[in-house]
Amino acid sequence: MSDDCLFCRIASGEIPATIVYQDATRVAFRDIAPKAPTHLVLIPRKHIPTLNDLQPEDAQTVGELFLLAKELAAKEGIDQSGYRTLFNCNADAGQTVWHLHLH
Ligand code: 5GP
Ligand code: ZN
Repeated sequence: MSDDCLFCRIASGEIPATIVYQDATRVAFRDIAPKAPTHLVLIPRKHIPTLNDLQPEDAQTVGELFLLAKELAAKEGIDQSGYRTLFNCNADAGQTVWHLHLH
């Protein structure tokens, strides 16, 4: 948990968001400025700033984000029509929130 991190504060419930799923290690919520009809943000509760900071012990956490993406795509009814998954890493890629997140 980082006190000055927006997504840590969403994960803790301190800042409201439309949360569609949460468990002990992951939180998923609707993007505040959706770039697609369905645009979810999936985060680990663990504060990892960027993909560059990923450690071997985070492998399961990231794998579980993709499993959640699959489950939520089905729940949202877009698993068959199609969806894109994306991590932006650092400014030139468009990262604006420094807490690892899967779009
Ligand atoms: P990035 O650009 O870092 O890859 O993605 C950050 C995403 O977080 C953006 O798509 C942006 O719209 C979304 N976002 C930024 N602030 C908030 C917020 O306060 N609430 C929610 N739900 N999404 C946010
Ligand atoms: Zn954070």
